[in-house]
Amino acid sequence: MNKDILLGKTLEELIQIVLDLKLPKFTAKQIADWLYKKDITSIDEMSNLSLKTREIIKEKFIFGNISSTKVQCSVDGTKKYLYPSNMPNKFIETAYIPDRDRNTLCVSSQVGCKMGCLFCMTGKQGFQGQLTSGEIINQIRSLPERESLTNIVYMGMGEPLDNVPEVMKSLEILTSEYGMAMSPRRITVSTIGIIPGMIEFLNNSECHLAVSLHSPFDEERKKLMPVQNVYPIKDVLEIVRNFDFGRQRRVSFEYIMFKGINDTADHIKELCRILDGIRCRINLIRFHPIPDTPLDGSDDATMEYFKDQLTKKGITTTIRRSRGLDIFAACGMLSTKELIKRQN
Ligand code: SF4
Repeated sequence: MNKDILLGKTLEELIQIVLDLKLPKFTAKQIADWLYKKDITSIDEMSNLSLKTREIIKEKFIFGNISSTKVQCSVDGTKKYLYPSNMPNKFIETAYIPDRDRNTLCVSSQVGCKMGCLFCMTGKQGFQGQLTSGEIINQIRSLPERESLTNIVYMGMGEPLDNVPEVMKSLEILTSEYGMAMSPRRITVSTIGIIPGMIEFLNNSECHLAVSLHSPFDEERKKLMPVQNVYPIKDVLEIVRNFDFGRQRRVSFEYIMFKGINDTADHIKELCRILDGIRCRINLIRFHPIPDTPLDGSDDATMEYFKDQLTKKGITTTIRRSRGLDIFAACGMLSTKELIKRQN
């Protein structure tokens, strides 16, 4: 019989587990402490549970810790970790990005991705499977730099809101008192605009939202992001516009700049028009060339001009620094396709 995994279970699920095992209810809280607050990797190390209790749990469950099997270090300090998933021969990557007083972890939510964005290596890999909340939490929990982490972004491999149940569970564990007790203001979930998932995320979490925009024009966006055919950006923006983000919660728009495609004065004008009435920021992102793509990145001067113009029109705009380019850890470059091919 395959044993189930404890890591990634919510407190409610742990309570059900201990009750099913005829253990006292408070055992669930003790297990949650070991899973999310302490630095252990096995059920045997849960030393405030009796030996008998540990044996009962071990009959049906394993801890679920997964160690990274490879780390690559960039000249700029970025590190890329490779993790096996619980699925045979399927791997994910996680990027750790230290930057002065801000240390960000970019986590993956799927093995590969089915969304097929033209500019993205993960998209070119195709979809190989959903990560469980345990596999998402594991990327944070088993990180050597875990203690220094200040921010988590769901911007690694996969579309987080195409894996809503597991992503929402992982967010609960990250932000709950019984879990890792992180402020939701330090967590950002990025989406290309999967509307049902976005509504669930907005209504059931306090974390920041980032929407990948990349073009304000429908036909052009369709070419870059097939999702536009199903969830047009105007419908996505309608939801964002009507949602009360309060004072603390933030929505940002990610905009990769492609030379001669989405970097003209018309784009600036149209961006201002479609974002009118939304309190937001725009992050301009340098395109990182990937194999087999017809796209090219805008030059620095164009990006600066774009930023200045948007700023003048009252939209807070920043140019995101590229990190981890030399180890293929920068935005849009994560992929484990070659590794999966080699293993099969
Ligand atoms: Fe998937 Fe995001 Fe890449 Fe699009 S950009 S293919 S949603 S991982």
